[in-house]
Amino acid sequence: MTIVRSPNCSNSIVGRFAPSPTGPLHFGSLVAAVGSFVLARQAGGRWLLRMEDLDQPRVVPGAADSILRLLEDMGLEWDGEIVWQSQRTERYAEVLEQLRSNGHLFDCGCTRKEILASAPHPGEEGPVYPGLCRQGLPPGRPPRATRLRVDGAETLCFTDGLFGPRKQHLETAVGDFVLLRADGVFSYQLAVVVDDIDAGVNQVVRGADLLGSTPRQIYLYACLGAPPPTYLHLPMAIRADGRKISKRDTESTGHGTQHGERLCQLLRFLGQAPPEELRSALPGDVVNWAIENFDLSRVPAESRVPDDSF
Ligand code: GLU
Repeated sequence: MTIVRSPNCSNSIVGRFAPSPTGPLHFGSLVAAVGSFVLARQAGGRWLLRMEDLDQPRVVPGAADSILRLLEDMGLEWDGEIVWQSQRTERYAEVLEQLRSNGHLFDCGCTRKEILASAPHPGEEGPVYPGLCRQGLPPGRPPRATRLRVDGAETLCFTDGLFGPRKQHLETAVGDFVLLRADGVFSYQLAVVVDDIDAGVNQVVRGADLLGSTPRQIYLYACLGAPPPTYLHLPMAIRADGRKISKRDTESTGHGTQHGERLCQLLRFLGQAPPEELRSALPGDVVNWAIENFDLSRVPAESRVPDDSF
């Protein structure tokens, strides 16, 4: 596919928010929504919206609608059409074939149990795939997943907009990773990269829980011959008891809270100091204040969720 960009917008910023409709937006997702929106708009850029609804069994009916309603109510207006990952499986299959014909992929017949049994040490995100099927499936063994080989990858270095220089050696930290799962679902890593390339996204702002996925994604960009976006990962939301907030934590931010006040709460979490009077302001006014005043140098790498948000 050839991407044609008009010369006068070749430098413009394209950011995005990519929620998974697996439940209501939790505090960390709202932080990503506000942060990515404000940083795109502050740069005079576009802000796109994508529903990551690829993993259909995990999709909760009604969740996408409530996410959209909440974004609208908070004054976070997106540009263009919403992209639904569930409608793009043909495109992911096409890119998978491109990677296969360039020798980047192999079929893997291993079960999770087998990988666990032969993985000498756990990696950053579970067992490191030890390359068992890299030279071909054992005779008679049917393929289960499709993996991207990383044995030729150099140590990947990138500079995160908040966390600074980062590096990861993919082979020892994660191993050959899955692009097509045993249940036939395309992996998050593949879909996110293909979608961001196709949409022209050049500024990724999201939660620090995805910092560890970024080297895999940058490697995929390289395999596809596309330039990666800039990355900025926002602080993890830590509960008052010190636990990270996970998707399992149900969202309760703002039952009875005004949207303007909720926005102020999110901005304070990001180290900003919205004036007191904005607490009772309309969301649009808070959003405009944030676009004018958001100061990246004030954003902490870790931040506690205000007690009243859970
Ligand atoms: N869908 C992912 C999530 O909700 C975010 C993906 C991304 O921003 O790259 O955690």
